[in-house]
Amino acid sequence: MDNKISKGLYEEAKKYIPGGVNSPVRAFKSVGLDPIFIERAKGSRIYDVDGNSYIDYVCSWGPLILGHANDDVIGGIEEVVRRGTSYGVPSPVEVDMAKLIVEAFPSVDMVRMVNSGTEATMSALRLARAYTSRKKIIKFEGCYHGHSDSLLVKAGSGAMTFGVPTSPGVPEDIVKNTIVCTYNDMDSVKKAFEDNKGDVAAVIFEPVAGNMGVVIPEAGFIKGLREITREEGALLISDEVITGFRLSYGGAQEVFGFEADITCFGKIIGAGLPVGAYGGRRDIMENLSPIGPVYQAGTLSGNPLAMHMGCKNLNMLKNNPGIYEGIEKMAIQIEEGLNAIIDELRIDACVNRIKGMLCLFFAKGPVKTYDDVMRCDTEKYSVFFREMLNAGILMPPAQFEGWFLSSAHSDEDIEYTLVECKKALKKAF
Ligand code: PLP
Repeated sequence: MDNKISKGLYEEAKKYIPGGVNSPVRAFKSVGLDPIFIERAKGSRIYDVDGNSYIDYVCSWGPLILGHANDDVIGGIEEVVRRGTSYGVPSPVEVDMAKLIVEAFPSVDMVRMVNSGTEATMSALRLARAYTSRKKIIKFEGCYHGHSDSLLVKAGSGAMTFGVPTSPGVPEDIVKNTIVCTYNDMDSVKKAFEDNKGDVAAVIFEPVAGNMGVVIPEAGFIKGLREITREEGALLISDEVITGFRLSYGGAQEVFGFEADITCFGKIIGAGLPVGAYGGRRDIMENLSPIGPVYQAGTLSGNPLAMHMGCKNLNMLKNNPGIYEGIEKMAIQIEEGLNAIIDELRIDACVNRIKGMLCLFFAKGPVKTYDDVMRCDTEKYSVFFREMLNAGILMPPAQFEGWFLSSAHSDEDIEYTLVECKKALKKAF
């Protein structure tokens, strides 16, 4: 694979951008490569500056559920640009977007647009703390909610109840209010509530964990979270930045039949433009400025371009439920294909899949918890990634990420991917 131009750009980029990238995972460090630089993308394919083409299973980490540059989604964007790129005062399309989200999620009466998933979760926490007049929050090890201080926290060691910062620069004073529990383990949540009686403002969680590979909630886990938060007077914040409009149109709440107090959105609702949102019950949301005292603002929030593309994306999904069936069918094809390969090669690997979300773990199954995930052989994953890239397939450049499918992926893409998976897995194991 020729990648001279990418290499040159990377050298140049490193002079001006920390690590040469604007988000760490893009550096391909965990798979032992230098990054590829992308020139363009269409449908299921992404093309680098050296002229290599790849079937793309990153899909910008989720927003492109209809594939790259879908004609229906990008259609009319030029006209929108010509009418102005940002107004700083309201525009009609913001109302269209809010209505679409509220109609899709029965637990959401009102929604506030922001510019990223990080902003959505950060603002949801502030609102929950203000609403409950409590400080502490519970999150789960292995769940990612963006990079705000309160949430950049991992579990403390041994008997420690409180989290420790995952990054220098995150003050211990802030994370002492973040309690880290174990995903799929209600006992850890019960203990956290017992130890912090009357202090917990909210539990924030990913209803399907999509940032430690794909980890599926065990029967009763979500119900348990809903019950305990109600009993203890804390809010349940469902971070649906990945699952919202992807697991199904009504997100994880539709699939698992629960109602969160606050829901966070991102990715898909902007179709690839920078966007995020958080919404919930009216009596909670009405605490936000300018009605209530809780401050949160954004110069570019509800940006007309992002709203235009986002509405087109959501309307496509709303009016074509077959898209979800198609994506799930492909995910099942991959799951079954991989399972057959795993059996044939007798390797320690396993697939986790729910609806159209899936990933391949380089560890013996089942993988149900963060500790299970940590058993994965990341070295072998790196070999797998490199082999796949050489075969023209872009997998997530880290073991602990989901594989993102779109309606633009074809049967041929899936068949070719499975053939190459077998070869790559033979090399890796
Ligand atoms: N929440 C979840 C579940 C995510 O997966 C992510 C990003 O991957 C975020 C929040 C943060 O979103 P953003 O990267 O847009 O800030």
